[in-house]
Amino acid sequence: MEELCHFINGQRVKGTSGRFSDVMNPATGEVQGRVPLASVEELNAAVAQAAEAQKAWATTNPQRRARVMMAFGALINTHMDELAELVSREHGKTLPDGRGDVQRGLEVIEVCMGAPHMLKGEYTDNGGPGIDLYSMRQPLGVVAGITPFNFPAMIPLWKMGPALVSGNAMILKPSERCPSTSLRLAELLKEAGLPDGVLQVINGDKEVVDAILDNDTVQAVGFVGSTPIAQYIYGRAATNGKRAQCFGGAKNHMIIMPDADLDKAADALVGAGFGAAGERCMAISVAVPVGQATADALVERLVPRVEALKVGPYTGGADVDYGPVITAQAKARIDGLVASGVDQGAKLLVDGRNFSLQGYENGFFVGPSYFDHVTPDMEIYKEEIFGPVLSQVRADTYEDALNLVIDNPYGNGTAIFTADGDTARDFAHRVNVGMVGINFPIPVPLSYHTFGGWKKSAFGDLNQYGPDAFRFYTKTKTVTARWFSGIKDGGEFNFKPMD
Ligand code: NAD
Repeated sequence: MEELCHFINGQRVKGTSGRFSDVMNPATGEVQGRVPLASVEELNAAVAQAAEAQKAWATTNPQRRARVMMAFGALINTHMDELAELVSREHGKTLPDGRGDVQRGLEVIEVCMGAPHMLKGEYTDNGGPGIDLYSMRQPLGVVAGITPFNFPAMIPLWKMGPALVSGNAMILKPSERCPSTSLRLAELLKEAGLPDGVLQVINGDKEVVDAILDNDTVQAVGFVGSTPIAQYIYGRAATNGKRAQCFGGAKNHMIIMPDADLDKAADALVGAGFGAAGERCMAISVAVPVGQATADALVERLVPRVEALKVGPYTGGADVDYGPVITAQAKARIDGLVASGVDQGAKLLVDGRNFSLQGYENGFFVGPSYFDHVTPDMEIYKEEIFGPVLSQVRADTYEDALNLVIDNPYGNGTAIFTADGDTARDFAHRVNVGMVGINFPIPVPLSYHTFGGWKKSAFGDLNQYGPDAFRFYTKTKTVTARWFSGIKDGGEFNFKPMD
C-alpha cells in the first residue's frame, strides 16, 4: 500500500500529524494508499514558508513567470498518459476521460503563458493638468486552492495556473480521495522552473481547510466542491477578511424542443448524463422534453442507448463508457435515491441498481438509471445525485420548461436542443444560469472565456480561469501622479564650463 505525502518546499514530505485517510481503488473496492491529513501546525509552517518564497517570485518579471508556464505545459504534454492514469487510478474514470481531465486543465495553463498581457495595467495620460493616472495589478501574496475529487487534474490546474503566474504563492489542498495527481503536477512545476515553496500541496480534511480559512497570511481562497461546503467556506473566509470564490454543486437541465434533432439530442443526453458516472458538475441530470410527443419519441431513443451503456474499470478497454463512482457511500446514496424515486411515483425505465461486474464484485459500480415522469417535489429532482441517473421532467410548453430551470436553486449549466434560432436566443437571454449550451450539452467554456455558475452553484465574485481569474488573483493599485515643473523649465541648454 502506497503511503502518500505532502509537497512542501519543492520536496515530497511525509505527514507528521499521525492522521491518515484511505485512498481507494473504486473499481476493486480495495485500499490502494493512504494520504496524510495535515495538522494546523503543518499548514501554518507551510504557509509561512510560502510567504517567504512569494517575495522573490512576485518580483520575477511576468514574462519569466510565463516561461515557467510554457515549460510546465510542455511537461504536461510529455506526461499526459502518466497523468491520465493517475487520475483514473484514484477516480475510476475511463482513460480517455482522464486524458480529457488533464487536457482541459492544460488549456488554462496555455492561457497563462500569455499572462503578461492579462496583468498589464491601465494608463490615462493627462487626466488633469499635468496629471497622469495608472493602475497596476499586484499579486495578493499567499492564496489557497481547495479542490474536489471529480477532476483531480483539471481543477487544481485551473487554480494553480492563474494564481502562480500572477505572482502569488499557493497552498493547494486537493481532495483527499484523489491526491496523487496534484502531487505529480507540483513536481512537474518544479521541473519547469517554479521556485521551491511557491506551490505547497497540503493534503488533509476539514481540519486543514479550517486552518487555511483562519490563517491570517492567506489572502484568498478559491474553492470548488459541493454547495453546503462552498457556502460554509465562503462565509468563514469572508468573515476572516479573505477574498473568496466558492463554486458549488449543480442540477443541470437540458430542454428538448419538438423541432430538435432527437437522435442528436438522445446521443448528447447519454454522454452528458452518464459520462464519468454522472460525477460532473456540468453533467445533465434533468431532461425536459417539451410536449408529450417529444417526450415519447425521446424515451424511444434513450432507453436502448441507456441500456447499451458499458460500465467497467478504466483498465477495461476502449468500449467502457464509464467507471465506478468514488466511494461505497456514494454508491449506497445513489441506490437510495433511485429507490426514493420509485417510492415517490416516478417511472423507472432503466434500473441501474443491483449492478454487478464479474471480477469486480466489490467495486463501486452503479448501472445507469433513467426515470420518466419526474416532478419537482421528488427527492431525485431536488438532490444533486452525482451519479449515473437521468431524470425526465415532461413540460407542456417552452415557457413551462424555461420556468423549471429558472426556479431551480442551482444555476451552473443548462442546454437547449432546438432547430429554431429565435427560441435558442430567447433561452440564452432569459435563463438565470451561468453557462448555456445551444445544441451543445456540456457548455464548459474554453479557457480564454471563463467558468462559473449562478445561484447556489457559486458564492463570491468573479469566475474561474479566463480574464476573471487574473482579476481574482491580483489587487489593483491606482496611482495619480503630478510632477511639478523642474529641470525642464529651469534648465540650462548652453554648453558652459562648470564653475
Ligand atoms: P466536497 O464539498 O465534499 O469536497 C470538496 C473539498 O472540500 C475537498 O477538498 C474536501 O476535502 C473539502 N471538504 C469536504 N468537507 C469539508 C468540510 N466539512 N469542511 C471543510 N472542507 C471540507 O466535494 P466533492 O465530493 O469532492 O466534489 C463533488 C462536488 O463538487 C459536487 O457537488 C460537484 O457538483 C461539485 N463541483 C463543482 C464544480 C464547479 O465548478 N461548480 C466543479 C466540480 C465539482
